[in-house]
Amino acid sequence: MRIHHLNCGTMCPYGGSLMGRPEPGLGPSPLTCHCLLVETDAGLVLVDTGLGVDDVTAPVPRLSRFFMGLLRPRLDIEETAARQVARLGHSIADVRHIIVTHLDFDHAGGLTDFPNAKVHLLGAELESARTRRTPIARGRYRPAQWPPPVAWQTYSPGGEPWFGFECVRELVGLPPDLLLVPLTGHTVGHCGVAVRGDEGWLLHAGDAYFFREEMHPEHPRCPAGLRAYQVMMEVDRKARLANQRRLRELVRTHGDAVKVLCAHDRVEFETFAAGKRPTAGSLAAAAQL
Ligand SMILES: [Zn+2]
Repeated sequence: MRIHHLNCGTMCPYGGSLMGRPEPGLGPSPLTCHCLLVETDAGLVLVDTGLGVDDVTAPVPRLSRFFMGLLRPRLDIEETAARQVARLGHSIADVRHIIVTHLDFDHAGGLTDFPNAKVHLLGAELESARTRRTPIARGRYRPAQWPPPVAWQTYSPGGEPWFGFECVRELVGLPPDLLLVPLTGHTVGHCGVAVRGDEGWLLHAGDAYFFREEMHPEHPRCPAGLRAYQVMMEVDRKARLANQRRLRELVRTHGDAVKVLCAHDRVEFETFAAGKRPTAGSLAAAAQL
Protein backbone atom coordinates (compact mmCIF):
# COMPACT_ATOMS: atom_id res chain seq x y z
CA MET A 1 0.00 0.00 0.00
CA ARG A 2 1.29 3.41 -0.92
CA ILE A 3 1.31 5.98 1.89
CA HIS A 4 1.46 9.75 1.38
CA HIS A 5 2.39 12.11 4.20
CA LEU A 6 0.32 15.30 4.14
CA ASN A 7 0.48 18.36 6.36
CA CYS A 8 -3.18 19.38 6.49
CA GLY A 9 -2.82 22.51 8.59
CA THR A 10 0.05 24.55 9.96
CA MET A 11 -0.32 26.22 13.34
CA CYS A 12 2.10 28.93 14.42
CA PRO A 13 2.01 29.42 18.20
CA TYR A 14 4.46 31.86 19.73
CA GLY A 15 7.05 30.49 22.11
CA GLY A 16 10.09 29.75 19.96
CA SER A 17 12.24 26.91 21.27
CA LEU A 18 9.80 26.42 24.17
CA MET A 19 7.39 25.17 21.50
CA GLY A 20 10.01 23.17 19.64
CA ARG A 21 11.30 25.74 17.15
CA PRO A 22 14.92 24.85 16.23
CA GLU A 23 15.86 28.50 15.57
CA PRO A 24 16.58 30.88 18.51
CA GLY A 25 14.07 33.47 19.74
CA LEU A 26 10.48 33.40 20.89
CA GLY A 27 8.92 33.74 17.43
CA PRO A 28 6.30 31.42 15.96
CA SER A 29 7.04 27.71 16.04
CA PRO A 30 5.18 26.02 13.19
CA LEU A 31 3.36 22.82 14.12
CA THR A 32 1.99 20.49 11.45
CA CYS A 33 -1.18 18.44 11.24
CA HIS A 34 0.53 15.29 9.94
CA CYS A 35 -2.05 13.15 8.13
CA LEU A 36 -1.67 10.04 6.00
CA LEU A 37 -3.33 9.25 2.71
CA VAL A 38 -3.23 5.51 2.09
CA GLU A 39 -3.97 3.93 -1.28
CA THR A 40 -5.73 0.60 -0.64
CA ASP A 41 -7.82 -1.88 -2.63
CA ALA A 42 -10.80 -0.49 -0.66
CA GLY A 43 -10.19 3.02 -1.96
CA LEU A 44 -8.33 5.92 -0.44
CA VAL A 45 -8.05 6.04 3.33
CA LEU A 46 -7.24 9.22 5.23
CA VAL A 47 -5.70 8.99 8.67
CA ASP A 48 -6.72 12.22 10.43
CA THR A 49 -7.94 15.19 8.41
CA GLY A 50 -6.34 18.32 9.88
CA LEU A 51 -8.23 21.54 9.21
CA GLY A 52 -10.95 21.50 6.57
CA VAL A 53 -12.02 23.89 3.83
CA ASP A 54 -14.70 25.48 6.01
CA ASP A 55 -12.24 25.89 8.90
CA VAL A 56 -9.88 27.97 6.81
CA THR A 57 -12.50 29.99 4.91
CA ALA A 58 -14.84 30.77 7.86
CA PRO A 59 -13.01 29.68 11.02
CA VAL A 60 -15.37 31.24 13.59
CA PRO A 61 -17.48 29.70 15.04
CA ARG A 62 -16.23 26.35 13.74
CA LEU A 63 -13.02 26.79 15.70
CA SER A 64 -12.86 28.20 19.22
CA ARG A 65 -11.46 31.71 19.68
CA PHE A 66 -9.30 30.45 22.53
CA PHE A 67 -7.49 27.86 20.42
CA MET A 68 -7.35 30.18 17.42
CA GLY A 69 -5.55 32.76 19.57
CA LEU A 70 -3.22 30.24 21.18
CA LEU A 71 -2.26 28.15 18.16
CA ARG A 72 -2.62 30.76 15.40
CA PRO A 73 -3.50 28.40 12.51
CA ARG A 74 -2.26 29.60 9.13
CA LEU A 75 -5.67 28.95 7.46
CA ASP A 76 -4.24 28.08 4.06
CA ILE A 77 -6.78 26.33 1.86
CA GLU A 78 -3.99 24.70 -0.15
CA GLU A 79 -3.02 22.73 2.96
CA THR A 80 -6.45 21.12 3.36
CA ALA A 81 -6.69 17.40 2.68
CA ALA A 82 -9.37 18.10 0.05
CA ARG A 83 -6.99 20.25 -2.01
CA GLN A 84 -4.07 17.89 -1.54
CA VAL A 85 -6.09 14.84 -2.55
CA ALA A 86 -7.12 16.72 -5.71
CA ARG A 87 -3.50 17.71 -6.43
CA LEU A 88 -2.54 14.05 -6.23
CA GLY A 89 -5.03 13.40 -9.04
CA HIS A 90 -7.86 11.87 -7.05
CA SER A 91 -11.44 12.91 -6.60
CA ILE A 92 -13.04 13.60 -3.23
CA ALA A 93 -15.31 10.58 -3.78
CA ASP A 94 -12.24 8.32 -3.95
CA VAL A 95 -11.74 8.84 -0.21
CA ARG A 96 -13.90 6.02 1.12
CA HIS A 97 -12.63 5.81 4.68
CA ILE A 98 -11.27 8.15 7.32
CA ILE A 99 -9.65 6.93 10.50
CA VAL A 100 -9.31 9.60 13.18
CA THR A 101 -6.90 9.34 16.10
CA HIS A 102 -9.35 11.53 18.05
CA LEU A 103 -11.88 14.29 17.37
CA ASP A 104 -9.95 17.42 18.40
CA PHE A 105 -10.63 20.29 15.98
CA ASP A 106 -7.18 20.03 14.39
CA HIS A 107 -7.76 16.39 13.46
CA ALA A 108 -11.45 16.35 12.55
CA GLY A 109 -11.78 19.57 10.53
CA GLY A 110 -11.70 17.84 7.15
CA LEU A 111 -14.52 15.39 7.85
CA THR A 112 -17.10 17.58 6.09
CA ASP A 113 -14.94 17.66 2.94
CA PHE A 114 -15.34 13.90 2.37
CA PRO A 115 -19.06 13.12 2.59
CA ASN A 116 -18.69 9.64 1.08
CA ALA A 117 -16.27 8.40 3.71
CA LYS A 118 -16.99 6.08 6.60
CA VAL A 119 -15.37 7.49 9.75
CA HIS A 120 -13.65 4.96 12.00
CA LEU A 121 -12.79 5.72 15.63
CA LEU A 122 -13.06 4.43 19.17
CA GLY A 123 -16.60 4.63 20.56
CA ALA A 124 -15.34 6.30 23.74
CA GLU A 125 -13.99 9.21 21.71
CA LEU A 126 -17.27 9.90 19.93
CA GLU A 127 -19.14 9.71 23.22
CA SER A 128 -16.74 12.13 24.88
CA ALA A 129 -16.83 14.57 21.93
CA ARG A 130 -20.62 14.60 22.02
CA THR A 131 -20.92 15.23 25.76
CA ARG A 132 -18.21 17.97 26.03
CA ARG A 133 -18.30 18.18 29.80
CA THR A 134 -15.51 20.76 30.49
CA PRO A 135 -14.53 24.16 29.04
CA ILE A 136 -11.48 22.59 27.40
CA ALA A 137 -13.72 19.87 25.93
CA ARG A 138 -16.06 22.51 24.52
CA GLY A 139 -13.09 24.27 22.91
CA ARG A 140 -11.39 21.20 21.51
CA TYR A 141 -14.49 19.33 20.25
CA ARG A 142 -16.42 21.33 17.67
CA PRO A 143 -19.65 19.58 16.61
CA ALA A 144 -19.97 22.06 13.71
CA GLN A 145 -17.09 20.12 12.14
CA TRP A 146 -19.12 16.91 12.07
CA PRO A 147 -22.80 17.73 11.51
CA PRO A 148 -25.09 14.76 10.83
CA PRO A 149 -25.19 12.64 8.86
CA VAL A 150 -21.71 11.20 9.45
CA ALA A 151 -21.14 7.52 8.72
CA TRP A 152 -19.53 6.82 12.09
CA GLN A 153 -18.06 3.37 12.62
CA THR A 154 -17.13 2.95 16.27
CA TYR A 155 -15.08 0.26 17.99
CA SER A 156 -14.01 -1.04 21.37
CA PRO A 157 -10.52 -2.46 21.90
CA GLY A 158 -10.12 -6.22 21.57
CA GLY A 159 -8.57 -8.95 19.51
CA GLU A 160 -5.00 -10.15 19.08
CA PRO A 161 -2.41 -7.70 20.45
CA TRP A 162 -0.14 -5.82 18.03
CA PHE A 163 3.51 -5.67 19.18
CA GLY A 164 2.17 -6.06 22.72
CA PHE A 165 -0.40 -3.25 22.35
CA GLU A 166 -4.11 -3.79 22.73
CA CYS A 167 -5.67 -3.01 19.36
CA VAL A 168 -8.72 -3.16 17.11
CA ARG A 169 -8.33 -5.38 14.08
CA GLU A 170 -10.80 -5.94 11.25
CA LEU A 171 -11.93 -2.40 10.66
CA VAL A 172 -15.16 -2.57 8.67
CA GLY A 173 -14.48 -2.52 4.93
CA LEU A 174 -10.71 -2.15 5.34
CA PRO A 175 -7.80 -4.51 4.76
CA PRO A 176 -6.00 -6.05 7.78
CA ASP A 177 -3.06 -3.70 7.18
CA LEU A 178 -4.88 -0.93 9.04
CA LEU A 179 -5.70 -1.11 12.72
CA LEU A 180 -6.47 1.03 15.74
CA VAL A 181 -4.10 1.06 18.70
CA PRO A 182 -5.68 2.74 21.76
CA LEU A 183 -3.33 5.31 23.30
CA THR A 184 -5.54 7.10 25.76
CA GLY A 185 -4.61 10.04 27.98
CA HIS A 186 -4.67 13.03 25.62
CA THR A 187 -8.37 12.31 25.19
CA VAL A 188 -10.66 9.58 26.50
CA GLY A 189 -10.80 7.66 23.23
CA HIS A 190 -7.48 8.67 21.69
CA CYS A 191 -5.86 5.99 19.55
CA GLY A 192 -2.93 5.44 17.26
CA VAL A 193 -3.42 4.11 13.75
CA ALA A 194 -1.07 1.38 12.52
CA VAL A 195 -0.61 1.06 8.76
CA ARG A 196 1.42 -1.64 7.02
CA GLY A 197 2.89 -0.11 3.89
CA ASP A 198 5.42 -1.34 1.34
CA GLU A 199 8.27 -0.69 3.78
CA GLY A 200 6.77 -2.07 6.99
CA TRP A 201 4.59 -0.73 9.73
CA LEU A 202 3.93 2.93 10.47
CA LEU A 203 2.23 3.94 13.69
CA HIS A 204 0.53 7.32 13.54
CA ALA A 205 0.44 8.10 17.26
CA GLY A 206 -1.74 11.21 16.91
CA ASP A 207 -1.22 13.44 19.93
CA ALA A 208 0.20 10.71 22.18
CA TYR A 209 3.35 12.82 22.06
CA PHE A 210 4.16 16.20 20.48
CA PHE A 211 7.93 16.35 20.06
CA ARG A 212 10.18 13.85 18.29
CA GLU A 213 12.69 13.66 21.12
CA GLU A 214 9.98 12.39 23.46
CA MET A 215 10.51 9.09 21.64
CA HIS A 216 14.26 9.04 22.20
CA PRO A 217 14.90 5.60 23.75
CA GLU A 218 17.46 6.79 26.34
CA HIS A 219 17.11 10.55 26.72
CA PRO A 220 13.51 11.63 26.15
CA ARG A 221 13.00 15.38 26.16
CA CYS A 222 10.15 17.79 25.50
CA PRO A 223 10.38 21.60 25.39
CA ALA A 224 8.56 23.28 28.28
CA GLY A 225 5.85 24.95 26.19
CA LEU A 226 4.86 21.77 24.39
CA ARG A 227 4.93 19.93 27.70
CA ALA A 228 2.59 22.51 29.26
CA TYR A 229 0.24 22.28 26.28
CA GLN A 230 0.06 18.50 26.65
CA VAL A 231 -0.72 18.86 30.35
CA MET A 232 -3.47 21.39 29.62
CA MET A 233 -5.07 19.07 27.08
CA GLU A 234 -4.69 15.73 28.90
CA VAL A 235 -7.64 13.94 30.43
CA ASP A 236 -5.59 11.20 32.14
CA ARG A 237 -1.96 11.98 32.93
CA LYS A 238 -1.09 8.53 34.19
CA ALA A 239 -2.39 6.86 31.03
CA ARG A 240 -0.76 9.47 28.79
CA LEU A 241 2.69 9.09 30.33
CA ALA A 242 2.39 5.29 30.48
CA ASN A 243 1.56 5.24 26.78
CA GLN A 244 4.56 7.46 26.00
CA ARG A 245 6.75 4.96 27.88
CA ARG A 246 5.24 2.08 25.91
CA LEU A 247 5.83 3.89 22.64
CA ARG A 248 9.46 4.54 23.56
CA GLU A 249 9.83 0.87 24.37
CA LEU A 250 8.29 -0.01 21.01
CA VAL A 251 10.80 2.25 19.25
CA ARG A 252 13.65 0.73 21.28
CA THR A 253 12.74 -2.91 20.73
CA HIS A 254 11.03 -2.86 17.31
CA GLY A 255 12.31 0.36 15.77
CA ASP A 256 13.30 -1.47 12.59
CA ALA A 257 9.85 -2.97 12.05
CA VAL A 258 7.69 -0.05 13.19
CA LYS A 259 8.18 3.65 12.55
CA VAL A 260 6.34 5.93 14.94
CA LEU A 261 5.18 9.46 14.15
CA CYS A 262 2.98 12.07 15.78
CA ALA A 263 0.69 14.76 14.43
CA HIS A 264 2.39 18.03 15.22
CA ASP A 265 6.19 17.76 14.99
CA ARG A 266 7.34 19.66 11.91
CA VAL A 267 10.84 18.14 11.70
CA GLU A 268 9.41 14.65 12.04
CA PHE A 269 6.81 15.40 9.35
CA GLU A 270 9.43 16.72 6.95
CA THR A 271 11.57 13.63 7.47
CA PHE A 272 8.72 11.30 6.55
CA ALA A 273 7.45 13.52 3.74
CA ALA A 274 10.94 13.43 2.20
CA GLY A 275 10.60 9.65 2.01
CA LYS A 276 13.03 8.85 4.82
CA ARG A 277 12.23 6.26 7.43
CA PRO A 278 14.11 7.36 10.52
CA THR A 279 15.91 4.80 12.64
CA ALA A 280 15.42 4.65 16.39
CA GLY A 281 16.71 7.85 17.91
CA SER A 282 17.76 9.37 14.60
CA LEU A 283 15.08 12.07 14.77
CA ALA A 284 16.74 13.41 17.88
CA ALA A 285 19.87 13.79 15.76
CA ALA A 286 17.78 15.32 12.97
CA ALA A 287 16.82 18.06 15.39
CA GLN A 288 20.39 19.26 15.37
CA LEU A 289 20.70 19.39 11.57
ZN1 LIG B 1 -3.70 17.78 17.81
